[in-house]
Amino acid sequence: MQLESQFASEFPELCDTDCPRDAVPIAETVLSNSRLSQQWQLSDIDWASFCQQRVSDGSVIAQKYAGHQFGHFNPYLGDGRGLLLGEYKAPSGEWFDWHLKGAGTTAFSRGGDGRAVLRSCIREWLGSEAMASLGVASTRALALLSSGEAVQRERVEPGALLLRATPTHIRFGHFEHCLYRNLTDTAERLYRFTIRQNWPDLEVDDHQAWFNRVVDNTAKMIAGWQAFGFVHGVMNTDNMSILGETFDYGPYAFFDRYLPEKIFNHTDQNGRYRFDRQPSVALWNLQRLAQALALFMDGEVLSAGLASFETRLQQHYAAIMSQRLGLPSELESHVQSKLIAGWLALLEQQQADYTQSFWLLEHPYSDAALFTDEFGRYWLSEYQAAVGNAEQPQLAQFNPSVVARTHQLQRVINAAEQGDYQPLKDFSAALQQPFDATLRDSEWAQAPETEWPEGQLSCSS
Ligand code: AMP
Ligand code: MG
Ligand code: MG
Repeated sequence: MQLESQFASEFPELCDTDCPRDAVPIAETVLSNSRLSQQWQLSDIDWASFCQQRVSDGSVIAQKYAGHQFGHFNPYLGDGRGLLLGEYKAPSGEWFDWHLKGAGTTAFSRGGDGRAVLRSCIREWLGSEAMASLGVASTRALALLSSGEAVQRERVEPGALLLRATPTHIRFGHFEHCLYRNLTDTAERLYRFTIRQNWPDLEVDDHQAWFNRVVDNTAKMIAGWQAFGFVHGVMNTDNMSILGETFDYGPYAFFDRYLPEKIFNHTDQNGRYRFDRQPSVALWNLQRLAQALALFMDGEVLSAGLASFETRLQQHYAAIMSQRLGLPSELESHVQSKLIAGWLALLEQQQADYTQSFWLLEHPYSDAALFTDEFGRYWLSEYQAAVGNAEQPQLAQFNPSVVARTHQLQRVINAAEQGDYQPLKDFSAALQQPFDATLRDSEWAQAPETEWPEGQLSCSS
């Protein structure tokens, strides 16, 4: 297995090469992603020894970046417990960074222990595989490894490492670091690097096309989050990939009930990153990026890109929601918007299960509780006027049976911490085929009996 070190050789000014300072032992492979391995024709890799080998041969680096955390600029960020192992060229010709999270301390650890715990690695594995399988851009999980260490968090937890694959680890925060240090040349080379590695269809000097793509991919990602009921939880600019991939799965949640104002992350007391604020936070983050890009890009290019964000987001969101609701494409856009808004208002009013409620639309004569009060009956009649009364079984291909619900994640984590990885494997397999309607009767599709309490997911991972 050959990895290249292009980022490391082209951006020495952004790399700590003297890492890990204290390497984490890599004891064994807990799980490998057979689906991704097949796609990439990677057979029979012993992931634990592959990673061990790569870390000890000295070609790994930690990346320097900065970022806005909860609205405040922090120049001291960087990979504090993750290492870039190198770049892999997939059979499709696309490049993927392979990055090992939880591998030990680096120059950017700032007093942190450089570790990751099994709980957070499992959460990232399942969240990212779920997201990618829903068709929303995301980092991927390639292998889950155990360290055999005990790691101190709010409690002592088993340590683990996650091998993550994604087309780039360049974040908004890389450019913000360049602004802070006035590294105009580095910023411009980062820009060119993304074109060469990730977007070779773009013209090298077309700043507008590049920034529009950043804005559009970000808008598309956010549309996917909003449409599938995903709350990221820590939308700091260092957790925003320049390619618009869902990145850095911490205290995230997929909704059970539709509660757009619910705060999951307990360090986010003001609810900056709650569900209904994700679109405006994404735009705010793009503005921070644009400030940094102004090192070498024209202000008008940047304003034009930013000004297009809302329309792009609306269009991507309406496209996914129309599919989920089965709305005819010829429907006038104000009727479409009204039906989508009414549907969400209905779910919120009834505190209905977000994922399961969409299943009802396959049978528009449904006598479900959702449609029994006056507003529900009214919405259903408007909906029937738009789509007709016929059964719509084809909607199942757009409406997932399973999402990575918090109580299911917790169940899988509890079993894994006791040494039983079977539930993890089973849930992972289910999340990789979310649109399989036969899964609706499975344990993995079940909603919790009681709603997960507010503020109960932590950043610490
Ligand atoms: P995150 O909350 O995972 O996005 O991390 C924010 C910053 O803290 C990044 O620079 C991380 O590398 C760093 N960090 C998080 N956890 C640790 C840890 N256990 N040890 C060292 N650095 C960490
Ligand atoms: Mg992060
Ligand atoms: Mg992180």
